[in-house]
Amino acid sequence: MEPPKIWRERKERYLGIGIMCEDCKKKNFPKTRICPDCGSENVKPYKIAERGTLKYFTQIMNTGDELVFNTPYVVGLVELEDGIKVTAQIVDCDFKDLKKGIKLEQTFRVIARNGKEGLIKYGFKFRPI
Ligand SMILES: [Zn+2]
Repeated sequence: MEPPKIWRERKERYLGIGIMCEDCKKKNFPKTRICPDCGSENVKPYKIAERGTLKYFTQIMNTGDELVFNTPYVVGLVELEDGIKVTAQIVDCDFKDLKKGIKLEQTFRVIARNGKEGLIKYGFKFRPI
């Protein structure tokens, strides 16, 4: 991810701010100016739920340079308590112990590093409760 995009989206990514549409009432993450469900511009910021359920997961063994510090790592689809689905890394667990349906909570971590002296991107991951 390029530095200007990291800077622009830092607040939403760090705090888990998505949108709630005032017209169709659907919630989405990440934040957009237009509702992806109905096309309305009548959206307001919405803080996504911090807990959810693991729906699917896989282990990544090989990846790009900015994520290599972290391999192997687990990526999962998490259905939050408010119904929003997010893809995120699952941490603080062994891959062999993970199961569909376990409860997870957000945890703030380093997401990517752009070299030894480059930008560090932070965001949320999930860990078993
Ligand atoms: Zn809408």
